[in-house]
Amino acid sequence: AKLDTPYTIEIKHLDFRYTDGDKLIIEDLNLKIAGGEKLAILGRSGSGKSTLANLIRGDRRPTRGTVELNQQETALLGDDISNYIGVIHQTPYLFNTSIRNNLSIGDESASEQRLWDVLERVGLKQLVAALPEQLDTLVDEAGLRFSGGERHRLALARILLKDVPIIILDEPTVSLDPVTEQELIETFIKELHGKTLIWITHHLQGLSLMDRVVFLEDGRLQMSGDPQKL
Ligand code: ATP
Ligand code: MG
Repeated sequence: AKLDTPYTIEIKHLDFRYTDGDKLIIEDLNLKIAGGEKLAILGRSGSGKSTLANLIRGDRRPTRGTVELNQQETALLGDDISNYIGVIHQTPYLFNTSIRNNLSIGDESASEQRLWDVLERVGLKQLVAALPEQLDTLVDEAGLRFSGGERHRLALARILLKDVPIIILDEPTVSLDPVTEQELIETFIKELHGKTLIWITHHLQGLSLMDRVVFLEDGRLQMSGDPQKL
């Protein structure tokens, strides 16, 4: 089934444990995320933020309860989910091929112009233009050619090319200094205008740009509020 805007995410009575008998990582979590909302999820290391991201994207099945996108369970959508939800993981994966191919995974039809356009939007145009082979420069597997922040920008450029309505960024700024972090957050907010953004972090940097902040602790959302009022 083809899903249509406004792409509402609804999490209902969600429980999750990795292994039978283990304690619940997520426990009776309820959350509704409106289409276009910019939501920050905060929580300490180990609180279950990345686990929750995987559950939202349907990469893991709930132990109990549901995660729905427009009333469809994400865990049952299969590969279709990648048309709706894009994730940038804590350590973005780069492929051992050219920058061009790394960008166009999922959209091989992108024109030269469009590739440069997204690179500009994420602030990588100058860096790539200065490389001798430009878009054909090989990215080594570990992504060592690029800094942590540059890798996240490349991953963002890939997601912008794919043009999905919901984007989950899992600690995209973990390796960045505060100024670069603030700049990256501003870029993301601007570029993802009208799209849903779920920003997972344990920093307070940039939160004032978000519509809502929720805190994950002991498997539940302990607090929720307008970042301007925190
Ligand atoms: P961080 O801020 O450090 O990224 P997080 O909030 O993203 O932490 P998760 O990665 O979701 O935390 O992990 C939540 C809990 O689940 C942790 O106790 C972790 O050890 C456990 N966990 C994570 N992945 C697995 C797995 N594949 N199998 C078993 N336990 C796991
Ligand atoms: Mg994590």
